Amino acid sequence: EKAPVITIDGPGGAGKGTLCQLLAEKLEWHLLDSGAIYRVLALAALHHNVALDDEAGLVPLAAHLDVQFPVQDDQVKTILEGEDVSRAIRSEKMGDTASKIAAFPRVREALLRRQRAFRTAPGLIADGRDMGTVVFPDAQVKIFLDASAEERANRRLLQLQEKGFDVSFDRLLSEIQARDDRDRNRAVAPLKAADDALIIDSTHLSIAEVLDKVLSHTKVKV
Ligand code: C5P
Repeated sequence: EKAPVITIDGPGGAGKGTLCQLLAEKLEWHLLDSGAIYRVLALAALHHNVALDDEAGLVPLAAHLDVQFPVQDDQVKTILEGEDVSRAIRSEKMGDTASKIAAFPRVREALLRRQRAFRTAPGLIADGRDMGTVVFPDAQVKIFLDASAEERANRRLLQLQEKGFDVSFDRLLSEIQARDDRDRNRAVAPLKAADDALIIDSTHLSIAEVLDKVLSHTKVKV
């Protein structure tokens, strides 16, 4: 018997990260931040001098990626080859690099098993682009969380400023749009809502309102 999964897919900056953390705390379930895995792989490629267009070179790196997500002081840390890269993977550059290598089918394939291994009792909250469509197609609850590009750029701006990154709104907006286009239009596992997903537009909703919607939808289904 497989543990239950709630998948939360959507474009960057829609509020998936915060929503997933709140859900995981509330239900006391595990959390998979699949974007962090793609970001870590991007960083590993830079460290090991593997070119970002070298699919054959990226595949073994993905298959043997030495990454851990320990919880320290209520915070999930990202450890790559023993080094704390929690902050380094959060830059826009690393998000952009991640989305370039995430377009390679064999790279995605090499990361499938690792992502599915997060599905353990009592349950999993899975955050990403293809959680409901490809990685956990049999998930009990699927959510697609969207918001306007402007609102998402605004949220990202605040988030990155809080973390001490120096960024401009206009640049963020164009980067977010470029990354979305790439994620939506790639041939394999493109960003899109699963047929059986509940679509929530969070442009004019607070995080508490989004959480309420997800929890009441979940109660009906699980
Ligand atoms: O969500 P986050 O911004 O951390 O993801 C970084 C990039 O990783 C995305 O733009 C996307 O290209 C890729 N990604 C993916 N599939 C996922 C999660 C992330 O292709 N499930």
